Amino acid sequence: MADKTLVCKDCGKDFVFTEGEQQFYAEKGFTNEPTRCKDCRSAKKERFNSNDGGNRNSSGSSKPKHESFNSPRISKY
Ligand SMILES: [Zn+2]
Repeated sequence: MADKTLVCKDCGKDFVFTEGEQQFYAEKGFTNEPTRCKDCRSAKKERFNSNDGGNRNSSGSSKPKHESFNSPRISKY
């Protein structure tokens, strides 16, 4: 295995998918290569974390849950 250079889908820059990361992905069973560079990934993660989504699934890294559910709790008690 060797380091791979991939192009970030978000910012269009080259980034390195290192040997270690490839191994990590393989261990996790991920078949897809990362599409975003570290910067974009961490930026996205930060945005996601600050988005007040209280429920974090530990194994949902490949599912982009981007929909916000407006709970229909308008009725007063
Ligand atoms: Zn990027």
